[in-house]
Amino acid sequence: MPELLIKNASHVLTMDDGRREMAGADIRLKDGVIVEIGEGLETTGEVVLAKGCVVTPGLVNTHHHLYQTLTRAVPGGQDALLFGWLQTLYPIWSRFGPEEMFVSAQVGIAELMLSGCTLTSDHLYLFPNGSTLDDTIHAAAEIGMRFQPTRGAMSIGESDGGLPPDMLVEREEDILNDAIRLVDRFHDAKEGSMCRVGIAPCSPFSVSRDLMRDAAILARDKGVMLHTHLAENDEDIAYSLEKFGCRPGQYAEDLGWTGDDVWHAHCVKLDGQEIDLFARSRTGVAHCPCSNCRLGSGIAPVRDLRDAGVKVGLGVDGSASNDAGNLVLEARQSMLLQRVSRGADAMSAREALEIATRGGAEVLGRPDCGQIAVGKRADLAIWDVTGLESAGSWDPAALLLAGPVQVRDLFIEGRQTVRSGHVTTVDMPRVIERQNVLARTLAS
Ligand SMILES: [Zn+2]
Repeated sequence: MPELLIKNASHVLTMDDGRREMAGADIRLKDGVIVEIGEGLETTGEVVLAKGCVVTPGLVNTHHHLYQTLTRAVPGGQDALLFGWLQTLYPIWSRFGPEEMFVSAQVGIAELMLSGCTLTSDHLYLFPNGSTLDDTIHAAAEIGMRFQPTRGAMSIGESDGGLPPDMLVEREEDILNDAIRLVDRFHDAKEGSMCRVGIAPCSPFSVSRDLMRDAAILARDKGVMLHTHLAENDEDIAYSLEKFGCRPGQYAEDLGWTGDDVWHAHCVKLDGQEIDLFARSRTGVAHCPCSNCRLGSGIAPVRDLRDAGVKVGLGVDGSASNDAGNLVLEARQSMLLQRVSRGADAMSAREALEIATRGGAEVLGRPDCGQIAVGKRADLAIWDVTGLESAGSWDPAALLLAGPVQVRDLFIEGRQTVRSGHVTTVDMPRVIERQNVLARTLAS
């Protein structure tokens, strides 16, 4: 990647170890890495002027189901609780195929990019009609997103007392074999990696105890991360107590699902002991505030998690339960929601942005991302604060208070993927048109 200089940024929020903020700074990118930061750097290579802009690290999304951008705002699923919502959507998802997976992933990723995201995980746990995780991996590579897809799975269908219909579950042996295939084919462990594969049975209520345990053994054998949904709402806790005779934290610990290489989505209902367990074991949490609001799941104890030293990142969650995929708005929501439960001083705009950047990078095991510092990957978001949303703001760097909610420019591994508010790497109008055709076909 050629050299590029971001010049004269009005404000840089580095999120580095000292949480430094700089005014009038330049940032030099070379070969996908930040190589120099300072004032008045020598002008060489391509120059991007950033006067009137706030520059932040690219945001990190730690939980998503990209395929769900094809089922936003589905009638019947708009006002249901988690389990009822799933039962409305499963039959629709069972009609997906490879093209639906590819196009919906590009739509979801483009939406993330415009909201400042440079690294996203994805959790795909159903593979109907010949679709594979390969479809979303190819979609992410084409659009230029740094990607951590996870091979999800469901194995307990309705006839075995599970929630999903039998047609959407797989044999556990097939699940593990496909996970091995995917890791061997796509996983890149190197610093600066653009694709790391994880293993991610959908949730304790859709797979067996054996699969949870075997997935953890396999992940450790392969040196990849583990991800699932945990303690999302009261129904989820009740299911765990009834079926497993313990709370979700205990279940996770017993099966090898705690550690620095594990992160769990939601964790709305973790109790004090579970929070201590997560802190002790360095287990990460993907906090999804909009989805938790939308499904009425509750307010995750983010203040307690952070105070206990638990790694917390942000997730937009799937677009069937958000239904937007705007990560900077998600960060704002996380800040507001903590204030609802704990008061106005419970979380600052800068702390929420920290969770959205270096917090997420820590959860995903990416110390090379999530901050603006020499030697870190060149993943940067440039926010124009000369516009309407910021007019009159006394502190434009407090982005989550007054906007904007869309980037002007975005760089991933030093490559510009958004310019002047438009995704540059794919033919976006064509992708949107295709997505709408596919959605209409599914609806008919
Ligand atoms: Zn989810």
